[in-house]
Amino acid sequence: MAKIWYSITFIAVFLILLGSSASSIQANEVLVEVDTLNVRSGPGLDYNQTGTVHQDDTFSVQETKEDWVKINWNDTTGWIAKQHVQFQEEHVTTCNVDHLRIRSEATTQSAIKGYLMEGDEVELLEQRDNWLHISYEGVNGWIHRDYTALATKPSDNRDTSNSSDTSVNAEQSIATLQYNATNLRAGPSTNHKVIGQRDAGERFDVIEKQNDWYHIQTENGTAYVAGWLVSIKGSSQSETTNQDGLKNKTVMIDPGHGGRDSGTIGINGTYEKTLNLDTALTLMKKLEQSGANVLLTRDDDQYLSLAARSSFANTSKPDAFISLHYNSAPHVQNASGISTFYNGNENEHLANMVHIAMIDATGMTDRGYSASNYHMIREPQVPSLLLELGFLSTSYEEQYVQTSAYQENVTDGIHDGLKAYFTD
Ligand SMILES: [Zn+2]
Repeated sequence: MAKIWYSITFIAVFLILLGSSASSIQANEVLVEVDTLNVRSGPGLDYNQTGTVHQDDTFSVQETKEDWVKINWNDTTGWIAKQHVQFQEEHVTTCNVDHLRIRSEATTQSAIKGYLMEGDEVELLEQRDNWLHISYEGVNGWIHRDYTALATKPSDNRDTSNSSDTSVNAEQSIATLQYNATNLRAGPSTNHKVIGQRDAGERFDVIEKQNDWYHIQTENGTAYVAGWLVSIKGSSQSETTNQDGLKNKTVMIDPGHGGRDSGTIGINGTYEKTLNLDTALTLMKKLEQSGANVLLTRDDDQYLSLAARSSFANTSKPDAFISLHYNSAPHVQNASGISTFYNGNENEHLANMVHIAMIDATGMTDRGYSASNYHMIREPQVPSLLLELGFLSTSYEEQYVQTSAYQENVTDGIHDGLKAYFTD
C-alpha cells in the first residue's frame, strides 16, 4: 500500500517537474540586459559589427571565449559581450549515449576518469567551448556537449577556410572509431548530413584534419568524422611494423579493481588495484609501439563495476580483452606463480599463447591455463583472458612482482603472446 502511495507521489512530482521545465527558459541561454548590444563576427572589438540585439532578447549559447559569448542569431551565429548578458543555464543535463567518457581535462587527449551511461543526470559546473565540466557521483570531469541533452543541432558553422593550420601531419594518419554507431557526415560539422554509421574499432585513412573534424577515406568515397570520436595513429609508425600481428588490432586492457575496491592487499600492504594499473600502463605502451590500438577500462584509481567493464568491452568490441590481476592465498605457504583463465573452447588458443609467453619471459612458477567462469572472461563477447600475475600474499613474491624487471618481463610476455596469437 505504502508502495503505491509513493509511486503516485513520485509520478505527481515528475509531472510537476515536467510541466515546469517545459515553460522555463531553454538550457544554456543568455538574456540581454542592456538596451542595445552589438553583435560581432568574432570574439573581440576588432571584429566587424554584424547587427544588434536588444534588452530581454534570449539566445542559445554555442560557446564562450574569455569575455565573449557566441550565440545562435538570425539563422547564423554572432558574438556578444559577456558582461551585458545574464546566463540562464540549466544546472543539470542528461547523457544521451552509453559509455560517454568523463575526461580529466576538456580535451580527448586527457585521462579518462569514468563513464556515463545513457540517461545519467549530471550536475553542470562550467562550460568551455564544446566541453561541459560536470559532477557525477563524486567524480568531477569533462564530457563533450554533443552527447548530452545540451547538444545544439544547428551549431558549428565553423569557418573552414583557415583549416590548414590544424592539418599538420594528418595526411599520414589512421582514424579508429571509439564508439559504436558513430555518425559519418558529409561535411566537417554537426550541421552536415549523416551519410553513414560505423562501429567502434573501424579504421579509416585520414585525408586531412579540419578544425576538430577528420576528412576520411571510406570504401565508396569520403566522409567526415568528429575528432572527439576517434583515436588517431600515424601510419608511418605502423608501416615499420607491417609484419607485426598486433598492427591495427584493438586490445582492451582491464586493470582489475580500483577506487573503493582495492583488490587483495599484500602481506606487506601492496594494493592489488595499484599494481594492476601499473602493469596495464606498461603493457599499453608496448602494444601501442607495435601498432595496436589500446583501450583501458580505467586509467586511474576509480571504481568500476564488473558489469561496466564487460559492457564497455561489448560496446567497443576489441580484438582481445585482457583483465589483469594479482593473486592471494593467505593460507597457502609460499604460494607462487602465474595463472591464466579463459572461458569457452574458442579462447583456449589465446590462453595458451599468452600463458606460455609470460612463463617464458618471467621464469615464474607455471600454474597453468584453465577454463573458468569468472565474469571478466564469461561476459565479454570477444576473446578474453584473466591473468593472475603473482601472489601478493607471499612476501618475497609481493616484493618481486613490483620490480621494474618483473613488470618489463611480464608485459613483454603478454605482448609477445598476443602478437603470436594475432600472427597465426
Ligand atoms: Zn584481482
